[in-house]
Amino acid sequence: MDVRVRYAPSPTGLQHIGGVRTALFNYFFARAQGGKFILRIEDTDQERYSDEALDDLYETLAWLGITWDEGPIVGGPNGPYVQSERFALYKEYAEKLVADGKAYYCYCTPERLDAVRAEQQAAKSEQQGYDRHCRNLRAEERAEYEKQGIVPVIRLKVPTEGKTTFHDILMGDITRKNRDVSPDPVLLKSDGFPTYHLANVIDDHLMGITHIMRAQEWIPSGPLHIILYEAFGWEPPAYCHLPMVMGKDGQKLSKRHGSTAVRDFREQGYLSEALLNYVSLVGWSYDGEREFFTREELEELFTLEKINKAPGVFDYKKLDWFNGQYIRQKSDEELLALLLPYLLKAGFVTEPIDGETREKLLLLTASAKERLKVLSDIVPLSRFLFEEPVWDDISLFAAKGVGLDVATEALERADEVLKAGLASGTEITVIEDQLSALAGEMGVKVGAVFMPIRVALTASTVSLPLFDSIRLLGEERSLGRIERALAILKSEVR
Ligand code: GLU
Ligand code: ZN
Repeated sequence: MDVRVRYAPSPTGLQHIGGVRTALFNYFFARAQGGKFILRIEDTDQERYSDEALDDLYETLAWLGITWDEGPIVGGPNGPYVQSERFALYKEYAEKLVADGKAYYCYCTPERLDAVRAEQQAAKSEQQGYDRHCRNLRAEERAEYEKQGIVPVIRLKVPTEGKTTFHDILMGDITRKNRDVSPDPVLLKSDGFPTYHLANVIDDHLMGITHIMRAQEWIPSGPLHIILYEAFGWEPPAYCHLPMVMGKDGQKLSKRHGSTAVRDFREQGYLSEALLNYVSLVGWSYDGEREFFTREELEELFTLEKINKAPGVFDYKKLDWFNGQYIRQKSDEELLALLLPYLLKAGFVTEPIDGETREKLLLLTASAKERLKVLSDIVPLSRFLFEEPVWDDISLFAAKGVGLDVATEALERADEVLKAGLASGTEITVIEDQLSALAGEMGVKVGAVFMPIRVALTASTVSLPLFDSIRLLGEERSLGRIERALAILKSEVR
């Protein structure tokens, strides 16, 4: 069998981690099986549709390097692949169901449906939802409604007896009594718009979809879809509902946990390789051990068998770790190209970048590489190079456990060591040893000596390695900052 799978997002919001995971699993499965990956836009909900969401979908897939074999833009033999361009088709198929006695016209007004609902609620009736009023209308009754000019909806005749089972590759058989399935849901609205269920089933069939991999929240729709396939006389595809993506607290992943929109991750400076790799491991594993996979490797190795039944945990810390790993695999040149947009946006540099600046930026990149969790970290880490420090909070000079008096003394004595060392071209490791020795003499931890120097140079307690900072700033600027910081500290401490 030639595998054909699809990702069928509704462009109503930004692509989020869960959606992208669904896209990736479908894509990898298709590639690993030598099958086809289809993209279909389910834009039947015109009220929630947004252009921004559609642009975001294309941008996100492009960023991840996911291409589709059939779908919008690229076309294909089963198009169009945008549901709003297929309305005539849905109508035709819905009417065919009516002709075959599997569906029927319903003329109920919204007012009548409201009244039915209110009555059911008041009576605490077991029967909830549509009361199937129009299911067995006589021809004269229908003619009467038509004469009144009421435009009907089309409803599916859900069997009232028996049960429906659908098989899920992960969850096994899922069976539901037909009387618990939504009573005769609308397939085609009076304005000619299809509902999700109708359009989804027709398209999956006409597009030859063999496996449906989608979020677990669609399981409740499963029996209804099977009933629809049966009504059409079609073979349903295989189902594989994907385990939920949750946060570390066991709740469904949501904004409460942090960013969930892929665009946010991208803007913060997660690398697409890292995100793709990590998201692929949320609910899937290769052998339970191996963690690093390129997209190309997953295109070969992905299997449905290795999808976990248990919900997948999205761990932001773990993603940070992956991101750091991928950042460190980049050459300085590659990484600088990725960092440059952040430096430009911060206004630290402007294009065109001259040779001298480029050299300096490469040095900065090399020095920062070990300390970047995300690309945007380069902004706070390199601010000291492009802006003069402002010491708003002088308590920062004092390392934990010491007072400002100690910090001041340490900085004063360190200044002497640095001046002498730098002037005589002493090896950096030797100067470092001298600073450590100074801490020993003063009876404080080395941090108490290094912290005030760091804060003097960068106005921050987090920075690049100290001597990298000095090298980037130049000796003169570095010593100048230390002098200025000292002057401020002395005036405060005395
Ligand atoms: N348009 C649906 C969604 O946004 C597709 C569900 C399915 O894959 O059947 O999730
Ligand atoms: Zn009705």
